[in-house]
Amino acid sequence: MSRDTTLLILGASGDLTSRLLLPAIGQLLRREPARRLALHGAGSDDWSAQRWQEAVQTAFTSADAATQLDRVAGTTYTKADVTDRDALAGLVEGVEGPLVIYFALPPAVAVAACQVLRDVKLPENTVLALEKPFGSDQKSARELNDLLQQLVPEKRIFRVDHFLGRSTLLNVIGVRFANRLVEPVWSADHVQSVLIRYDESLALENRARYYDRAGAMIDMIQSHLLQVLAILAMEQPADLDEIDLRDAMAAALRATVIWDDNPVRSSRRGRYTAGTIGDKEHRRDVPSYVDEDGVDPDLGTETLAEITCEVRTARWAGVPFTLRSGKALADRHAEIVVTFRPVRHIPEGLTGRPDDGGVLRFVLGPDRIDLELNVNGGDDPFALRRDVLSTKLGKGTLLAYTEVISDILDGDVALSVRADAAEQCWRIIQPVRDAWNRGDVPIEDYPAGSTGPKGWATSA
Ligand code: NDP
Repeated sequence: MSRDTTLLILGASGDLTSRLLLPAIGQLLRREPARRLALHGAGSDDWSAQRWQEAVQTAFTSADAATQLDRVAGTTYTKADVTDRDALAGLVEGVEGPLVIYFALPPAVAVAACQVLRDVKLPENTVLALEKPFGSDQKSARELNDLLQQLVPEKRIFRVDHFLGRSTLLNVIGVRFANRLVEPVWSADHVQSVLIRYDESLALENRARYYDRAGAMIDMIQSHLLQVLAILAMEQPADLDEIDLRDAMAAALRATVIWDDNPVRSSRRGRYTAGTIGDKEHRRDVPSYVDEDGVDPDLGTETLAEITCEVRTARWAGVPFTLRSGKALADRHAEIVVTFRPVRHIPEGLTGRPDDGGVLRFVLGPDRIDLELNVNGGDDPFALRRDVLSTKLGKGTLLAYTEVISDILDGDVALSVRADAAEQCWRIIQPVRDAWNRGDVPIEDYPAGSTGPKGWATSA
């Protein structure tokens, strides 16, 4: 008889669990009535069973989930210090059937819990799911990989990257590889530059405890945006499976370095000052980052980061890939912008010579593609102007975390970050971190609600 899968969330009273994991579990159970799942939570807060059930039901009641608690095949909450061997053993030993342990914990606590797991007898086929940031530099990421691989084989380790989500990722891959209009021009011969941008209009939102130690570079660029770069730059995988796809992505990351090997000229960092975000109806006054609750100004944390990389392969050498992400900006911009080189020659007589040979823009969530073309026509057929062809890419209704959890429960690691790729992402950004730590790259101020510090390539 097949057993129910047990999902054990460590850090169950935290933000990730209530805001992202539980609604996703609810959505998954509503969509897949046949799926059987026991859901257990453990955390340092002293919650009663009733408080936990209320938290789960509240999340399940959200519009995306709209399901009932009784869809879960049993649920409990245990107050436990998960860095304590006996407490952790009590949670996992004796679980029958497949067990997934989800570490929804502060990163250092997750590492401590993994160390303790060495002395715990894990049920057969246990799966481990870890959140970003994975380690704090290349060495610690390697040590964490070694530790995890002592516990379970690589194919049962999920380094979660919810940002990509299955549908967004596959949308980019499909457009890239399935169009003769795109695939043959996907190289330095035709592409002038690539921008991967994730600007948020949200400010700190009470997340100082985590964010003030991470900053924009580690929160977004080191983890999520470098994975996007890997997808854009990789060679075509024979199959979108855990071997070929992850081999191709890891190879792209191995070839990636900071542009010109010059982290000072190829990176920028900014920090928001007080300002106002939004239009008349939705105005929010935001304090300076350094005045936000829980922020230690001495840490010098950046809230906006930009780096430029080169993928040193025959396909991409010479093309700048700029990765940028920040908080408290005027608008949300989650996009990949591929700018093509100008054509070699334009007939005499056409006016308004464009600076580039067109732009392909992937807008992320809800996913859309804009193809900016140089066109003529109309009253003055000799004048070139810009027009945009725009199309929505499928109407995905799944939450990104629903896709993540579904993959974890199904044991499909294709879209989780492989051990070597996680280490490469730290290797790529280390020269920039060193330059920043030496003070070689000053922090530039920008008012909350603006497009960023003046003079940045990607600020208006
Ligand atoms: P929180 O601090 O909100 O939650 C962590 C939880 O772990 C808290 O409930 C905390 O309890 C508990 N905890 C800490 N130490 C222990 C311990 N020794 N034993 C048991 N429980 C413990 O963090 P988040 O939920 O925001 O983040 C968790 C992970 O998810 C991080 O790695 C983060 O980077 C990642 N993540 C978070 C996202 C988000 O939007 N929140 C998005 C993407 C990733 P207490 O409060 O009592 O210390």
